[in-house]
Amino acid sequence: MSNESGSHHPSRYESQKRRDWNTFLQYLKNQRPPIHISLCNSTHVIAFLRYLDQFGKTKVHLHPCVFFGQPDPPAPCTCPLKQAWGSLDALIGRLRAAFEEHAASPEANPFADAAIRVFLKEVKDSQAKARGIPYKKKKKKKRRVIHHPLKLHDDDHFINNTS
Ligand SMILES: [Zn+2]
Repeated sequence: MSNESGSHHPSRYESQKRRDWNTFLQYLKNQRPPIHISLCNSTHVIAFLRYLDQFGKTKVHLHPCVFFGQPDPPAPCTCPLKQAWGSLDALIGRLRAAFEEHAASPEANPFADAAIRVFLKEVKDSQAKARGIPYKKKKKKKRRVIHHPLKLHDDDHFINNTS
């Protein structure tokens, strides 16, 4: 294959996948010593995901923060920004596909490693707790109108057992 297939208009997914792949290769190259893709394993992938947190935009509250577990904090706090679990999950999906396209042995795909699934599950659970946002379907919860002087949503004044 001389060139990637979509020379006209690669889909958003395809171009994103290519960007992610290049970012990952660049990351491996920048390691000391550099890591060749054929030697890359799940430990490198997880280190890469942790490295990406510094570019994250999702506030994940730490335990001592008063907003820990609050989905909609009324004020800013100093907790770190991280990559949202959903972004990491989608990223791993794209990298797994890219690896299969580029690498010789898809059976040794480090992005498909069980350790990655475990890591993502931990991120998911901890972010759900810290942000008070369940990633699963919302359970029906009785909500009451709360006196909330700081914030008033238009649809907030008549909430009664709905969500
Ligand atoms: Zn916080």
